[in-house]
Amino acid sequence: MSENKINRRDVCKTLLAFGGLTLGGLAVKGQTATPTPTTATAPTAGDVLEDQKIADAVKRGATMEEIAKLRDPIAGNPQEALRALKTGNARFFSGSARRPELSAAERRAQILGQTPFAVILSCSDSRVPTEIVFDQSLGSLFITRVAGNVVEAGTTGSIEYAVGHLKTHLVVVLGHEGCGAIKAALLPAEERARETPSIQALLNQIVPSVSKIPKIRDEKAKLREAVVANVRQQVANIKKEPAIQRAIASNKINVVGAFYEITSGAVDFFETDEDLRIAQTAYDSCNWRAHLA
Ligand SMILES: [Zn+2]
Repeated sequence: MSENKINRRDVCKTLLAFGGLTLGGLAVKGQTATPTPTTATAPTAGDVLEDQKIADAVKRGATMEEIAKLRDPIAGNPQEALRALKTGNARFFSGSARRPELSAAERRAQILGQTPFAVILSCSDSRVPTEIVFDQSLGSLFITRVAGNVVEAGTTGSIEYAVGHLKTHLVVVLGHEGCGAIKAALLPAEERARETPSIQALLNQIVPSVSKIPKIRDEKAKLREAVVANVRQQVANIKKEPAIQRAIASNKINVVGAFYEITSGAVDFFETDEDLRIAQTAYDSCNWRAHLA
């Protein structure tokens, strides 16, 4: 599949799901999507009502506990959580980001606890600021970031904490266009061997998932294929964890993959078994515990 087809498909999928959004400067028919500067837009009627309730509560001297309960939860189940991320990203890439901020009183009330609706394993890359990409506010997302968005002890523990203790509804592995970690994992072994031991250890967790992708001449398309292969593998790794399996079995959470396209700002989600299918012969050996041994 060509990059152009991928770009249009990604954008169209999001727009179909959340029709009626203004595209802004996005070049749907063009070869590449035009980056659109995001501008904050007016909040919805519901947001205004909630803001007013909170302002009134502050005026009458409400406690932090009361203030913390005044805003409705963003999502109550995996489906609503995924929808919230998709709509937030659609606002972002179409130039309609709300850039939601909390009042000072609400921010102070957050010291009482956190209730993020999704946990996201994403790359450390400076061009992938997760809250901005999904147009979410303080306290909405529990994020663990590591170059190449790989599953290892720290990221697994973080995800399991969010699922088990914070009652998040969705786990997302977010890869991205132009990922340097994935690009490095595609290099010949002798080149990777010049890196520091720690970088090599990190790359070794990516190499199995990207080493058997089909031969693709176009470098950009090849890198995208490798990023997506790694996302699929990391989703599979997360789903192997017993605590995650229990949460999925009881319909508390869902685990999905995603690809963030820097040029358009759009995130393409991989939700179905077919979307997340990996080549068994290529990836069977990928297990983060084996790499740490
Ligand atoms: Zn990256």
